[in-house]
Amino acid sequence: MTEFSSRPIETGSALLRFGMTVDERERSLLAPYARFSCDSLGRKIAEEEHPYRGPFQRDRDRILHSAAFRRLSGKMQVFTGEMGDYHRTRLTHTQEVASIARTIGRVLRLNEDLIEALALVHDIGHPPYGHAGEDALNECLHDEGGFSHNQFALTIVEDMEIRYANFRGLNLTREVLDGQLNRTDKSATNQQPLLEVQLVDVADSTTYDAHDTDDAIKLGLVSLSDMQQVPIIDECVEVVRRRYASISDDLLIRAMVKELIDRQVTDIIESSAAGLAERDFASAEEARVSDFRIGPGPILAEQKRELERFLYDNVYRHPDLIAVRKQAQQRLRKMFEGYVAQPELFPAKYQERAKRVGVKRMAGDYLAGMTDRFCEEMYRRHFATPV
Ligand code: MG
Repeated sequence: MTEFSSRPIETGSALLRFGMTVDERERSLLAPYARFSCDSLGRKIAEEEHPYRGPFQRDRDRILHSAAFRRLSGKMQVFTGEMGDYHRTRLTHTQEVASIARTIGRVLRLNEDLIEALALVHDIGHPPYGHAGEDALNECLHDEGGFSHNQFALTIVEDMEIRYANFRGLNLTREVLDGQLNRTDKSATNQQPLLEVQLVDVADSTTYDAHDTDDAIKLGLVSLSDMQQVPIIDECVEVVRRRYASISDDLLIRAMVKELIDRQVTDIIESSAAGLAERDFASAEEARVSDFRIGPGPILAEQKRELERFLYDNVYRHPDLIAVRKQAQQRLRKMFEGYVAQPELFPAKYQERAKRVGVKRMAGDYLAGMTDRFCEEMYRRHFATPV
């Protein structure tokens, strides 16, 4: 196992003479159960601490400046082919998750820098064409151990991003790597996740439950009245109607989605704050080994399950999307075979990696890094059969 190392944060820097050090700021704002920057378990490759940015703040910035993060703008959240570009991309989803997680984290007095780093990295490993793309790559790489976007996020930040002269990857802190590892396999780290990690997971589901509802209606996959079969949606619509005597259908949908976010966020804050007050944890470690979990109360948790079941049956498996996805999956399979047969088609920077990880894994990883549009372009350029 790799040793991580951390160095204490410099507190006497001239740059901080009129400000607060990271540690002073965190001591004044965070609760004892938050993960403090000065307690970070450090990075695989030891680095000097930055004079005025804490370790989690630097992780957030490294992720934000990575190529894989920028490519999220070219990946649809729910892959719909040519159905329009109003709806969410992986990038806007990620920004919404970060925003919601920070909102909750601030109230609960958790470490917002760590929360933001975890939120920005959480979907960085998604391949093109949404879950359809993931399923196809998983099948292609079956004999190689399969493919999962959560695992691929770690491959990106530990191996594929090359931005620094002295190491591969982003050399993120152990907290951020373990948080992502926990998404891959809940038992992988041998430890319960930190509260910040738990929170980002909950914020992810809060976000997609709301925006997938919004996008599904906007795309015409379901109507608002269809969605009102789901109790939580019906309740949100009723709240909005009571609040505004007359409202256009368009604004009603927007106000309903806002209500759906508010309702979840408020419930998560209330349920979690009550639990935290009762437990009175003295440290992040004490919180993580307990059975306390950040999340919605039991009523909202059940309502979210109903909504997710509805979205699964009526949106993600909508007949209009199934045909588009099948086509995208066939394209990916053909490209995978094509790259395996002609590894010279990999860009020069991946030739060396192909030797190290094998041609099949490299083909899967290269495809997984592509945006929806770049994938189509490469397909047309190298693999489409001329008619
Ligand atoms: Mg997500």
